[in-house]
Amino acid sequence: MNHFEHRKLRKGVAAYVDGEADAALAVAVRRHLTECWSCSEDAEWLAVVKAALVHVGARRAPELTIARLGRFALCLLEQPRSTS
Ligand SMILES: [Zn+2]
Repeated sequence: MNHFEHRKLRKGVAAYVDGEADAALAVAVRRHLTECWSCSEDAEWLAVVKAALVHVGARRAPELTIARLGRFALCLLEQPRSTS
């Protein structure tokens, strides 16, 4: 994993987890996740948050809660980390 690739793809992780990445980005992110501990951890957290929101079902979370969780997830992606 190189640092340039990490910086380029880390913002695509959320789109990938949400299934919103185009085919080229999805391939690049999927490959990157096998090599980057930081991004794979982010992807795992985003998937957990997404799954938690899906299982809310009829007890839909208030819009403010959804917005706060989304903002929290983005903060996780934007925190500088060691990429070793
Ligand atoms: Zn990365």
